Amino acid sequence: MSPPQGEMNQCVVLRQKNDIVLENRPIPQLAHGEVLINVKATGICGSDIHYWLHGGIGDFQLKAPMVLGHESAGIVAEVGPGVKNLKVGDRVALEPGVACRMCEQCKTGRYNLCPEMSFAATPPIDGTLCNYYKHAADFCFKLPDHVSLEEAALIEPLSVGIHSARRANIKSGDRVFIFGAGPVGLLCAAAAKAAGAGHVTIADLVPSRLEFAKNYCTDSQILLQRSQSGEPNMEFSRRMAKEILKTEELADAVIDCTGAETCVQMSVLLSKNGGSVVLVGMGGSVQSLPISEISSREVDIKGIFRYCNTYATGVKMLASGSIDVKPLITHTYQLQDAVEAFKHVKEGRDGAIKVQIVA
Ligand SMILES: [Zn+2]
Ligand SMILES: [Zn+2]
Repeated sequence: MSPPQGEMNQCVVLRQKNDIVLENRPIPQLAHGEVLINVKATGICGSDIHYWLHGGIGDFQLKAPMVLGHESAGIVAEVGPGVKNLKVGDRVALEPGVACRMCEQCKTGRYNLCPEMSFAATPPIDGTLCNYYKHAADFCFKLPDHVSLEEAALIEPLSVGIHSARRANIKSGDRVFIFGAGPVGLLCAAAAKAAGAGHVTIADLVPSRLEFAKNYCTDSQILLQRSQSGEPNMEFSRRMAKEILKTEELADAVIDCTGAETCVQMSVLLSKNGGSVVLVGMGGSVQSLPISEISSREVDIKGIFRYCNTYATGVKMLASGSIDVKPLITHTYQLQDAVEAFKHVKEGRDGAIKVQIVA
């Protein structure tokens, strides 16, 4: 299983904005506590597409060529010194963010907020879209035989769903409203259901996405409209929320996966008194919100930064069947066709939900 001498390590490298190439790089050397993973399945994420098209996201700007990809699973090919929890041949899901394990945030379990976090495919850290990736052994999660590596690669976006359900404090029977029916919105719906939600509503601008959602973990689907030109966002949001409340009840928790200002405003308006709004989507960095509603109705607004302590849970959910991620994998490509795969995601063609690169 360990890589034979001279074996290729093909990597999908973003050299600069709009410029992806396949490069053969040396197989990484392992340090203490690391394992070498032969990567077998990697999902393409919206953030990979964003780096490709724009060369950065917010404060994270590409300054040197970087390997893309962070939603991966694979097989342990080599074990570094000091690794006790894994052996060659183990099938694992890779949690892509490695924290320092020493700071206050790490020690209190909120290691997603660690200032020393190094996260795959967030500049300058190389990602996982390659044949061989070295990773901290304690951020690799062993899979039972009946969970496929393709499913396991989806534990990364599923983690966002699990973390959002926890932050929203979803309880048995809760009504949950989700904005955005892309992969993350759908996995938030799945995680909400698994946490006991009684009714999940999902809203999106794209009818085909709602059509998919009809058969995936949601009870009702709402087609959103775009705001008309000239109408202030808050006015539009009030009008649209009123329209939605003709058929929907106020929600115990609202999860916004769009980042759009109007959706965040509607999230507040659709929350019950004392409910929570969880902000998963990343949109405008400064937005206008109905503060009087937030105060007088005690709506809790909660930020989300990736996730923490979700991988072991995700593995158990897939193993037990409490969540089925298989329907989300709509298309697969080989590593050498990575550029085609990226184009496919960008165009959202043929009902693509999750496009994976497999080996
Ligand atoms: Zn992702
Ligand atoms: Zn830390």
